[in-house]
Amino acid sequence: MFAAPDAVSTWLKSTAAEFEARIDELDGLDAAIGDGDHGTNMARGLATAATIAPAPGTTTRQYLNQVGMALVSSVGGASGPLYGTFFLRVGQLWQSPHTVSSIWQALKAGRDGIASRGRAKAGDKTMLDALCPAIQVLEHAAMERDEDAATTLTRAAAAAQAGAEATRGMRARRGRAAHFGERSVGHLDPGAVSMAMILDSASRHLI
Ligand code: ADP
Ligand code: MG
Repeated sequence: MFAAPDAVSTWLKSTAAEFEARIDELDGLDAAIGDGDHGTNMARGLATAATIAPAPGTTTRQYLNQVGMALVSSVGGASGPLYGTFFLRVGQLWQSPHTVSSIWQALKAGRDGIASRGRAKAGDKTMLDALCPAIQVLEHAAMERDEDAATTLTRAAAAAQAGAEATRGMRARRGRAAHFGERSVGHLDPGAVSMAMILDSASRHLI
């Protein structure tokens, strides 16, 4: 187990590298139902966040607060404030060492932050459609007192991926994609794909 906030910063640094490698793919998804900048936005935001080196004594809460602020200030699109709020809220409830239950609580707070900031709910074809199924997996494991974080996070990441894929059949009701109306059906939501990436990276680094 890493000392806080090392595990979290390792998670986000690795996520930054994954966004860098998938800029074109995510820009392409956003080009179909938006303005084609989601990969560029996320890669820039995570790269800025990855430059934050937690000073000795920095708590994970303080670190995630800095990450959230970095995303808000460096990402021009709607996703900047939404992901910024997400990491800020996750940080407020983060516990070190983390458990299945504490990760569940933290992600729930992050979800509520996105939902209130974006006035979105599950089914609106947004990043929430990847996050909510992952939270359900964590909730179920926490209720069953299954505290195996590694396997639970792996299952949560798979649920997020399935949730992102399910956005293909949804009609967008929030953000730029909503302007496409029925024409948004048949396309993946780029923010749901990026949320699935973040959670997949969590499953490999928050262990
Ligand atoms: P912009 O739409 O400003 O260009 P991005 O392209 O970076 O910003 O991000 C688009 C993604 O942000 C969408 O795919 C969607 O998942 C998410 N999003 C947009 N608006 C909202 C909202 N109101 N609530 C939740 N998520 C949203
Ligand atoms: Mg965009």
